[in-house]
Amino acid sequence: MKARKIVEEMDSYVPGRSQDEIASDFNLKKEDIIKLGSNENPWGPSPKAMKAIEDEIKSINRYPESQLHELVSEIAEYSGVKDSQVIIGGDGADEIIDVLAKTFIDDGDEFIVPLPSYMYYEYLLKQYGAKPVYAKWDLDENKLDVESIYNSITSKTRMIFLCSPNNPTGTLIDKEILIDIARKNPDILIIIDEAYFEYSEVTNKDLINEYDNIFIIRTMSKVLGLAGMRIGYGLACEEIIEYMHRIKPVFSLTRLSFVAALNTFRDKEYIEDSIKKGIESRQYLHDELSKIDGLKVFPSKSNFMLIGIKDTGFTASQLALELVKRGIIVRDCTSFKGLDEYWIRISICTLEEDKKFINVFKEVLN
Ligand code: PMP
Repeated sequence: MKARKIVEEMDSYVPGRSQDEIASDFNLKKEDIIKLGSNENPWGPSPKAMKAIEDEIKSINRYPESQLHELVSEIAEYSGVKDSQVIIGGDGADEIIDVLAKTFIDDGDEFIVPLPSYMYYEYLLKQYGAKPVYAKWDLDENKLDVESIYNSITSKTRMIFLCSPNNPTGTLIDKEILIDIARKNPDILIIIDEAYFEYSEVTNKDLINEYDNIFIIRTMSKVLGLAGMRIGYGLACEEIIEYMHRIKPVFSLTRLSFVAALNTFRDKEYIEDSIKKGIESRQYLHDELSKIDGLKVFPSKSNFMLIGIKDTGFTASQLALELVKRGIIVRDCTSFKGLDEYWIRISICTLEEDKKFINVFKEVLN
C-alpha cells in the first residue's frame, strides 16, 4: 500500500531520547539525570494544577469540554486581548501551527523561515505541500537578517515564521521590524512565535489589533510548566480565529489538560516565581559559561542559550555524548538547519543542577 507522495518522501521527526532510555543505556539512575535539552520548567508544575488534575480524574469517562469558554477567557485576560482573539490547541503550540497550515496553506505555497529556528514549522507545513524558503539569522551580529526575509518573498509566499525570542539563538526581533514586515506584506501571514515570551518580558500581542495578518503563537510548555499536558494557544484578529475554529480538532484538549491550564493561569504566584527563578538561572549560567575559554555564549532572552564550541576541539555530538555519559542531557544542535556541527543548546535548571552542570562541563572540556 502506497502512502501519499509527500508522506513517502518524508523522514520521521526524531525527538530527543527519553530519560528512561538514557538511564538504561548509560547505567544511570533516572532521578540523577539533569535535563538541559528541552527548555522545560525545571521546578515542576503549579501545585494548584496538580490538585485540579486529581479532582478531575474521576470524570475522565466523559468527553472533554468542546467550547472551552472558561479557559478562553482566562487566556484572554492573561494576554490582554479579547476572548474572540484566542484559539486553544490540545497538542501544544504544535497543534496551533498545524491548524494554521490546514487553514491557510494550499499545495505549492511557500513559507519563509530564517535559519536557524524552530524546525517543527517546516516538518508540519511540508505535509500540506508547502515549500520552505530559507532566510537567515546573522549569527555574527546575533540578529535577524531582515534583508534576507525581504529577498525571500515571492508571489507564492503565504507565511513568514518569526520566532521571538528565537529558538535556538535566544534573540528577540525588534517590534519595528515586525511591524515593517507586516505593513509591507498585507497578504502574507506573519507568525510571531512567542513560546518563550515570558522570559523576555516583551510581547507583540498588541499588534493583532492593528494588523489582521499577524498571528501570535504561545505555549504552556515552558514557563507555565505543562509540557506534558500539551496545551498551546494562538492570538490573532477575529477573522483568522474564526476560520481556524472551523477545522480545529474538536476534542483535542483533554479534561485533565483543561483543568491544569485553568488553574495554572490562576496561580499568579507560581507564574511570577517561575519567571524570576528562570531569569536567575539564565544569568548564572551565562556568567559561568562566559568565564570558560573557547566558548561562544549567546546572550539569551529565553530559558535556554546557544553555545558555539568550535574552539573546544569537540563536535556537538561528541560533547553531548560525553555529557550524557555523566548524566547531563544537552541539545546537540547538529540537526538544526543553519547551524554546523559545533553548537549545543542548554536550558535553565535549578541552581543546584546548574552548578553540577558547570562542574561536569568544565571537567569534560579539560
Ligand atoms: N515554538 C517554539 C519556538 C518551541 O521551541 C516549541 C517547543 N519546543 C514550540 C513552539 C511547541 O511547543 P508545544 O508544542 O510544546 O506547545
